[in-house]
Amino acid sequence: MRYSIFSVLRQALAGNRGWAPAWREPEPKRHYDVVIVGGGGHGLATAYYLARVHGVRNVAVLEKNYVGSGNVGRNTTIIRSNYLLPGNIPFYEWSLKLWEGLEQELNYNAMVSQRGVLNLFHTEAQRDLFVRRGNSMRMHGVDAELLDVAGVRRIAPFLDFDNARFPIRGGLLQARGGTVRHDAVAWGYARAADRLGVDVIQQCEVTGIRVEAGAAVGLETTRGYIGAGRIGLACAGNSSRVAALAGLRLPIESHVLQAFVSEGLKPVIPGVITFGAGHFYVSQSDKGGLVFGGDIDGYNSYAQRGNLPTVEDVCEGGMALMPFLGRVRLLRSWGGIMDMSMDGSPIIDRTPVGRLYLNAGWCYGGFKATPASGWCFAHLLARDEPHAVARAYRLDRFAEGRLVDEKGQGPFPNRH
Ligand SMILES: Cc1cc2nc3c(=O)[nH]c(=O)nc-3n(C[C@H](O)[C@H](O)[C@H](O)COP(=O)(O)OP(=O)(O)OC[C@H]3O[C@@H](n4cnc5c(N)ncnc54)[C@H](O)[C@@H]3O)c2cc1C
Repeated sequence: MRYSIFSVLRQALAGNRGWAPAWREPEPKRHYDVVIVGGGGHGLATAYYLARVHGVRNVAVLEKNYVGSGNVGRNTTIIRSNYLLPGNIPFYEWSLKLWEGLEQELNYNAMVSQRGVLNLFHTEAQRDLFVRRGNSMRMHGVDAELLDVAGVRRIAPFLDFDNARFPIRGGLLQARGGTVRHDAVAWGYARAADRLGVDVIQQCEVTGIRVEAGAAVGLETTRGYIGAGRIGLACAGNSSRVAALAGLRLPIESHVLQAFVSEGLKPVIPGVITFGAGHFYVSQSDKGGLVFGGDIDGYNSYAQRGNLPTVEDVCEGGMALMPFLGRVRLLRSWGGIMDMSMDGSPIIDRTPVGRLYLNAGWCYGGFKATPASGWCFAHLLARDEPHAVARAYRLDRFAEGRLVDEKGQGPFPNRH
């Protein structure tokens, strides 16, 4: 069923009784050409592009829970391509370009809103870093604009500009950045993949990876054994646990990241704003809630819930930047498990096990990467060679010292 203004009107007149389910609930087949483990944004996008771009349609996505139950439905919805390093910029810019046409392509309203991402700076040294980043972006053909204090004040007059400790000196704006309704991305890709023949199988946990003569041949699941020509792992925070089923130890640690939503307010925050003197970022949803977050919790965990010291830390950062936050009531908070890699950059590559491929290490920036990640992982699975914009995301870079350390933090996953 195609969605359009006419189908909405038709259904409204018919009492909304004629909507078809967005995707099927198929029984698993005994064998697929490709099986993707993980029905988050990346796994579903991969399946969709496998079918749409490469014509590989005998594909299943296995999700242990329900579609959208992982980080794809838990993030703070920010998309951007304001990266510094040559290994990263082309990949994230390709993702932003795919976001720009995604809703038409999927025939699904994902509320892609290019309302701008503004990174504030508070010292002269930080200004230099942001100038460098902006120049790097522009050299790659990506939009970037350096704002002085007056420029920031025009966009966000409610900020605390004269905070003695963290005076605002300006900001780097990417006007094409913004937000996307996160769970609609999972639903849109699931529906579009299903329409191309992909089996999206929910409540199907992978419990084992069968390896014969050095190559993966199938998966043990809670719904029986499923054979596979190729297997792609896209399990985000659970990547290490699932890869361990094939005897692999990944350069990844899992940490909790929390997010927060306030009560609904009248429109006040025009785009995404990030604090440069602490870790705090905020936007406002179309319903009016302020959506914000900050640092990861800092200890390893597979629990999808966080702790109170981090709540306090994030709120303190927010108060230092915009004191009016102190009068706003917090409505909800939640946590997701982040797959933090050793250099803060992802992995889209083959593994030492034959026919087993890995998509992981997204840290807390993987939502914006969803379309390009799916595009590049599909390319790798279909052709057995990396896509040009994802060439830097090799697994062996950690052994060979060719890191893609965007933040320059070194091998400390909890700092990226
Ligand atoms: C609080 C928070 C805020 C964030 N904010 C942003 C942001 O603003 N911008 C941004 O770019 N990124 C953000 N991120 C990061 C982003 O959400 C993730 O990097 C990205 O969603 C990960 O990819 P995914 O969507 O495929 O993950 P997921 O949705 O987690 O998908 C992985 C799936 O694998 C499934 N799975 C795991 N093990 C198995 C198994 N054994 N068998 C079958 N299935 C299995 C899981 O159930 C899960 O559904 C944020 C994350 C969090 C938690």
